[in-house]
Formats: sequence, C-alpha cells, structure tokens
Amino acid sequence: MEKRDYYEVLGVSKGATKEEIKKAYRKQALKYHPDKNPGDKKAEENFKEAAAAYEVLSNDEKRARYDRYGHEGVSGAGGGFNGGGMSMEDIFSSFGDIFGDAFGSFAGFGGSRRSSGRRVNKGSNLRVKVKLTLQDVAQGTEKKIKVNKYVQCTACGGTGAADQNSVTTCTTCRGSGHVTRVTNTILGQMQTTSVCPSCNGEGKTITKKCPACYGEGIVQKEEIIKINIPAGVSKGMQMNVEGKGNAARRGGVNGDLLVVIDEEEHPDLIREGNDLIYNLFLSIPDAVLGTQAEVPTVDNNVKIRIEPGTQPGKILRLRGKGLPELNGYGRGDLLVNVNVWIPKSLSREEMKLFEKLKDSASFEPRPDSNDKGFFERMRGYFQQ
Ligand SMILES: [Zn+2]
Ligand SMILES: [Zn+2]
Repeated sequence: MEKRDYYEVLGVSKGATKEEIKKAYRKQALKYHPDKNPGDKKAEENFKEAAAAYEVLSNDEKRARYDRYGHEGVSGAGGGFNGGGMSMEDIFSSFGDIFGDAFGSFAGFGGSRRSSGRRVNKGSNLRVKVKLTLQDVAQGTEKKIKVNKYVQCTACGGTGAADQNSVTTCTTCRGSGHVTRVTNTILGQMQTTSVCPSCNGEGKTITKKCPACYGEGIVQKEEIIKINIPAGVSKGMQMNVEGKGNAARRGGVNGDLLVVIDEEEHPDLIREGNDLIYNLFLSIPDAVLGTQAEVPTVDNNVKIRIEPGTQPGKILRLRGKGLPELNGYGRGDLLVNVNVWIPKSLSREEMKLFEKLKDSASFEPRPDSNDKGFFERMRGYFQQ
C-alpha cells in the first residue's frame, strides 16, 4: 500500500509548529479511537496511520529526516516502531497521554499506561460468574462473592522494598524509566528510546526486597467483595466493577472485577426478555365450565378467572407481572398459556360418561377465532 504523506494524514502544513501537530494528531486520534469505533477496521487503520505520522512529525530529528528523504528516511533502521507497523499497544503506551481524560482509562490496552515517561503497572482483571434467581432479577440484589486475588502487601505498602532506605533511583535511567540511545547510520544519527532494562521502566531500584511479598508488592488473599446487581439484568450480561480486580505489582492501578450474570432456572416460569411465560393446565370440566385458577409470579401467586369454554392454546396476558426493565422504567408481562389436561386412564364410570358425550352436538369441534390465533402464534414462532 502506498503510504500517504504524513502532513496530509494529520491535515497540517509543512511548516506546522509542534503544537499544531500535536493538536491535529489529538483530533484524528479521538475521531478514530477504537472505543468510538468498535470493530471498525477502517477506523483502526486511520488510527494507526495518524499515530505513525505523529510519531515522526513530533520528533524533530525524525521530522527533519522525513522532510529530506520522505518515508524512506524514517523506516527501517532504529526507528522503534515505524509507519503502519505500530500495534495498538504501542500507540497507547507511547501516546496515551495525549487523550487526557477523553476516554477515562486505557486499561484494556497493553496493561500499562505511561505518564510523564514512567511506566504504571495495572493489575489484571478478575472474572466471576454469579447465578441469580428470577427473584434476584426482579428485585435487584446484593451479592457477596469470595475471590482469591492479589492485594497490596501491607508490610511494604506495595513498594516491594524492605524499608524506605532500600529504594533508590535507578542509576541506568536516572529515574526516567527509559533510555535513549544514539547510533550512527547511513542516514545520519538515529535516536532510539526504549524502556529502561534495569528497572523495567519503573525508575526505581530495590536493593533489599520486602520479605513478606518477595519484592512484588502484592500478596494473594481471599477477599469478600460486595456487588450490587440492579433489577432487570439477564444471562450473559457483564458488569464491570472498577478497581476490584487484582492489585498491580509494586504500586500500580488495580484491575477490574468483571461480573458475568448467569440465571438459575425457575421451576415454573420461563423467561423471554422481560416477559414471563407460565404453562397452565386446566381439567376438562374447568375449561368447559370456567373456574378460578392460581398462577405463580416471581413474587407470589395470583388468581385469574377462566371463562367458561376457554380453549387450550389461549394466551392470557397479565400486564406488568413480568420482570422490570434494566433502566427502571416499565415491566414485562406474564403470559399464561392455557392447556387442557387430557386424562390417560379412566374408571369404567368416567369412560361411560365420555361415551355418552361422544355424540353430543356441543362436542363437535367448531374452530373459530381460536383457529386464527393458532396461525398467528405459529407465524410469530417461526419468525423468531
Ligand atoms: Zn511487601
Ligand atoms: Zn531505570
């Protein structure tokens, strides 16, 4: 692929100042940011292209080489990362600062965020599954979850050092967390900046490690975490509880706790979105003569009237007896599917009764409006 001119990519003139370049890059990066364009490959390409352009144009030395030799001048030897070859992680760890707070945290990318050159560790995320009953879903609930996770070492306060005197500024990078190397190449001097190998970018060295955590700054511990689950959630949803995941090595930012919702099956009720379905069985006499039937909801039982001559397959809708919407507005319905129970064995006497009814004119099937309902239901069923 032909590389576009870097000035063109950022939409600035050849004579643009550093400030203008930074501003232009920020604009592009925010526009094509992956959080704003999830799953959009083209946006990702543009995002990377802008980062590659900024990587070169923000650096005096690289910019001078680019001005003179074009793309040739800044690809290949000693460039760190070059146009198009930067991964999303590279971009966030190098230029993450430019976004400021526009997107909160970039925790998802790379696991470390650079601020003023030094590296900030981020703890890993924890994932737990919680199983909820329909009652939990209907009312919302508070769950206490036991997790085994990394927490900050209390003995050293997370520093990993035995005491204050055993933390010194890294001599290799003098505390900056990165080292710059200058090499001579055909194209002139090249400057490479990389994470300090002595301190791993932390800027500090520990001469004597904390004995409780062996210098890691974190220890494993079982912890009970309380989480509030709102009403109306459903299976497969994921809640993100910020900062409740694993602690980071040597004083960083905690990871998050990801709570995945699972549902326990209700013995009588089936969930369909925010509606609930109940399968009601009537006896033949009750369906013929009418009756009062009891139907379970998530909270209690309710009584419903069954009209004389109610057909099996009729659906009775109890408005607002379903589950609440997640946003708190409105509730689903309870749909009662009426069935008629046909006995499988009869006494001699019962058999005689049915035989008597067999030729009765009223028992001749006469499908009417119910028949139309059947087609509608089946259509609905197959369209799902
Ligand atoms: Zn410790
Ligand atoms: Zn260092």
